[in-house]
Amino acid sequence: EQTILEKGSTGFWSGLALWKKILVGMILGIIAGGVMGPDAELFKPIGTLFVNAIKMLIVPLVFCSLVVGVTSMQDTRKMGRIGLKSVVLYLGTTAVAISIGLGLALLFAPGDGMNMTITEQAAANEAPSMMDTLLALIPQNPIGAMAAGNILQIIVFALGLGIALTLCGEKAEPAVRLFESLSEGMYKLTELIMKLAPYGVFGLMAWVAGKYGLEVLLPLIKVIALVYVGSLIHVLVFYTGLISVLGRLNPVRYLKGLINPAAVAYTTTSSSGTLPATIKAAREEMGVSRGISSFVLPLGATINMDGTALYQGICAVFVAQAFGIDLGASDYILIIMTATLGSIGTAGVPGAGLIMLSLVLTTVGLPLEGLAIVAGIDRILDMARTSVNVCGDLMVSVLIGKSENELDESVYNRAGHASDVA
Ligand code: ASP
Repeated sequence: EQTILEKGSTGFWSGLALWKKILVGMILGIIAGGVMGPDAELFKPIGTLFVNAIKMLIVPLVFCSLVVGVTSMQDTRKMGRIGLKSVVLYLGTTAVAISIGLGLALLFAPGDGMNMTITEQAAANEAPSMMDTLLALIPQNPIGAMAAGNILQIIVFALGLGIALTLCGEKAEPAVRLFESLSEGMYKLTELIMKLAPYGVFGLMAWVAGKYGLEVLLPLIKVIALVYVGSLIHVLVFYTGLISVLGRLNPVRYLKGLINPAAVAYTTTSSSGTLPATIKAAREEMGVSRGISSFVLPLGATINMDGTALYQGICAVFVAQAFGIDLGASDYILIIMTATLGSIGTAGVPGAGLIMLSLVLTTVGLPLEGLAIVAGIDRILDMARTSVNVCGDLMVSVLIGKSENELDESVYNRAGHASDVA
């Protein structure tokens, strides 16, 4: 399945997958910046054009895809208790993932000392009190929230509208279809704008490397290392912990059973594309019943994005550090809420997390130039975060299977053996 970052046609340049083009853009940008020095600022407008185009996408894309995200959970209602349990586990683990990301980035400060500056005044909003943050969650006027680009309020309204449309049933079908078709359109527009990414990334990297020198590479390597370390912690410590404590199951079996889908996720960078492998592993390696696996796993591929959230936490702090912007406690809470709720509207396709990162950055007023800087290495990060996304779906399916007495423990305790034989 080819998606946004993978499409290519014929001819050398046009035949190259988009992520490779972006990588080429980044490398050429760094070379141009290294050779030209501060003069490379000449290329910055190409980057600004790209950043502006991304900004244009955010509000309508988030709104439509969140409404659709909620209405596509229709079955959740039918499945009652199981649906509720899955949603709670999916969102809860996502909040933990982003906290791990934030913690790691604060501890290892990958962006410190980059001293980047922005000309347009973005960031550094006055830290509002906790109470104000909570009160401001509900927009008094949803159109006003959209005009002001208040992401969290837009999310809240979209979730509410999605739930209401679902409750209306048949009567709301035309509206649901309208949102589905609008969000198709927004995905298409995203795809078109992402075609500009290689050039935008070139322009911004040339400017950054020209102005700040080649030292900009080291922080990017740190970001990669942190995303990989965070991913390992999340799966090896947090998931196995939940499996043993909540599920009272042997965590080693879980780790053995997830190898196939994790490898598919790592190479395809799409949790939706990995779904068949995930379902197979849940049933054949872990003994999750058909009923549970065919409900919980597709839902997870759509709304559960722990790896993506972890990555967003790290990147948000990285961008703040790089641009020397101080984030306060309420900013971190905003980031956690935005990334957790935003994951409902994130598609399980390559590169989706990068677009959703713009959401998190916008919420706390961080410059989107930062997004273009991580875009060059996004594929490497996407591989890790998609694997975590899939491991999370599997973990939840095992826990729910166990709690519903729909887990065949004789199969679970053999996990890993089937693949030894095959
Ligand atoms: N590629 C990820 C997935 O399919 C989403 C993302 O880009 O973070 O799960």
